[in-house]
Amino acid sequence: MLKPGSTIGILGGGQLGRMLALAAARLGLHCHIYSPEKDSGAFEVAKAHTCASYEDEAALAKFAAAVDVITYEFENIPARTAEVLGKRKPVHPNPKVLETTQDRLIEKNFISALKIPVAPYAPVHSAAQLASGIAKVGLPAVLKTTTMGYDGKGQVKIMPGGDANAAWRSLKNKPCVLEGFVNFQREVSVIAARSADGKVECFEVTENDHQNHILKTSTVPAKVTEETAKEAEKIAARIAKALDYVGVLGVEMFVVKVKGKQALMVNEIAPRVHNSGHWTLDGATVSQFEQHIRAVAGWPLAKPLRLGRKVAMTNLIGAEVHDLAPWLALPGTSIHLYGKTEARAGRKMGHVTRVWPAK
Ligand code: AMP
Repeated sequence: MLKPGSTIGILGGGQLGRMLALAAARLGLHCHIYSPEKDSGAFEVAKAHTCASYEDEAALAKFAAAVDVITYEFENIPARTAEVLGKRKPVHPNPKVLETTQDRLIEKNFISALKIPVAPYAPVHSAAQLASGIAKVGLPAVLKTTTMGYDGKGQVKIMPGGDANAAWRSLKNKPCVLEGFVNFQREVSVIAARSADGKVECFEVTENDHQNHILKTSTVPAKVTEETAKEAEKIAARIAKALDYVGVLGVEMFVVKVKGKQALMVNEIAPRVHNSGHWTLDGATVSQFEQHIRAVAGWPLAKPLRLGRKVAMTNLIGAEVHDLAPWLALPGTSIHLYGKTEARAGRKMGHVTRVWPAK
């Protein structure tokens, strides 16, 4: 168990790193942020930072020497970076997790091997595999690059009668996974934390709505049956255990209707704190950020309880951040801004949480 005054190294300097550093500070722990981008929003709230590339092994060694434990807020850390650091200091979650979650195909094979349902899928590395994949999963389908996709980037939908080869060309013929299009009722996620001694605590299932492929709102309670909610938590806990995970992870799922009953399919695993868990900052007795810091610091996890009968989180995307007045006037809301200067279209600039008090 790290003592207060110890230092946690965080790879990645975006809003997730920023909110992790703020949570750590509340527990008397210091953070040292490592990010290649000089205007990283996490730098200004952390005790120390290193601005260097993930390939700079001298800078990585110096960073490792300055911290007690290392974690990350960004999953596309090169494998070699994690390896270099892992030789010097404990890295949580363990770098093997990155190998599984950086590649959609490996991730889907891993989830399927646990007998957890996913959308029907097929690997696409050639035109022949694209054709056989379509024969297997049917159309409509979604073609996704195996690596580096986020917020709808690196994916295209293929409609019945559509030109599948053109779709693949638009993804530069990169290695892909073809997924059957899921006619879901709703999208949900579970934010789970696992401690070094293997205990798991889940935040309650969250319902997520996207706009233009970007998360717009997350709401609790989700409109799912109690049975579905329990099953969702069980799935997240099984994934965390199978990965020998330490820290917080987000598991995105589709809720589908099968024979008149709700069923779940896992879409994606995020090996880090997750946007759909931001409601916990003001809507729960412990936030996902504190829970992650506790886990990587070897502290016991907290048992999270929701505050209020309903909680919603709304992302402020692009220019929306310039229109704060209605939010500032709304009772029950809290505003979180990430310190980004340029409000580019599609960029997550901040979020608002709203808590409806229990009656
Ligand atoms: P992803 O990058 O895999 O998280 O996908 C982004 C969003 O695209 C998801 O949150 C869904 O709204 C949608 N999506 C992804 N895959 C599928 C699918 N197989 N069927 C239907 N919608 C999907």
